[in-house]
Amino acid sequence: MNITAAVSRGGDAPLAIETLALRAPTADEVLVRVVASGICHTDSTTREAFPPGLPIVLGHEGAGIVEAVGSRVTGVSVGDHVLMTYQSCGECAECSCDLPGYCAHWATLNAGRFGPDSPLRAGEEPVTGGFFGQSSFASHVLATTRNIVVIDPDVDLVSAAPFGCAVQTGAGAVTHVLAPDASSVLAIFGVGGVGMSAVMAARTIGVGTVVAVDLSPERLELASELGADVVIDGGDTDAAAQITALGNGGATHALDTTGAAPVIATAIDSLTARGVLALVGLGPSTLPVEVAKLIGRGKTIRGSIEGDVNPHTYLPQLVQWHRDGKLPIERLIRAYPLDRVNDAIADAASGAVVKPVITFS
Ligand SMILES: [Zn+2]
Ligand SMILES: [Zn+2]
Repeated sequence: MNITAAVSRGGDAPLAIETLALRAPTADEVLVRVVASGICHTDSTTREAFPPGLPIVLGHEGAGIVEAVGSRVTGVSVGDHVLMTYQSCGECAECSCDLPGYCAHWATLNAGRFGPDSPLRAGEEPVTGGFFGQSSFASHVLATTRNIVVIDPDVDLVSAAPFGCAVQTGAGAVTHVLAPDASSVLAIFGVGGVGMSAVMAARTIGVGTVVAVDLSPERLELASELGADVVIDGGDTDAAAQITALGNGGATHALDTTGAAPVIATAIDSLTARGVLALVGLGPSTLPVEVAKLIGRGKTIRGSIEGDVNPHTYLPQLVQWHRDGKLPIERLIRAYPLDRVNDAIADAASGAVVKPVITFS
């Protein structure tokens, strides 16, 4: 079938809206008509890393409506409303432990399907598809039951689209990785889509003190409205000292969403004894760490991908939180029609919008 997609053709060239051919679903695949797709930082970093001459359809926060299912697909029907997330095998040790984010085949299943293996063509030319098991900057995608979650049809798909990556990453880092409680001080570094989700999750589970650190006054104000008790300008040279002055000797838990080495260094300094820092922000940085600081104060640094959650059980919980008014994700979102995808990417990069979501008519 012919579909409409935003195609990245390398580097920072604008995405081009093109008509592509999408092959029919196999017995194990599900054809989804995309209604909305969030734009996530990984889309931009992947786009920049892809060489010219290797076109790809990005997008990995898709939400839509099932249009067809393969003959072996069970539990999903035509007309179902679904959220999409990353792909996983379902059979390796980590998948068996309910941690599909650490699937042994993660890279293969999520980096995109290249050349003859791709379901997408521009004329005769293969276009890399299946990015995160979806490539959702497109009117239609092929997914599987491993990376779709059926939700009630009354849920707004534009609001819920980012649940499958940014929101579960931030919220899950709080609820499943750090698990702070009413006596904790949680410092969240960077309040973009992931960090704001962490703020809202922390408020929802009753974390004692929630601290948001960012360079943007507007974002700090929004973080405040969404539940941060304390906001700190990340440009302040004494940001760590401001956190250690809050009580407990500093943050019992910290979350870095920026991937920036200087910010991570501040996060480490802000931790109290035996405090834990979780890293979820991918960046180009390597990390110079003063080992003595970790040893002398018993601090822990750990990484986490996609919130250490099982999307099949976690995304329905996020939907319920949203229903209950605990996760007002729409306050972060600006919707853009597909033909304005480049404006949406630019606005995400400039910080003008926290979470752009592409919509399809
Ligand atoms: Zn696996
Ligand atoms: Zn993402």
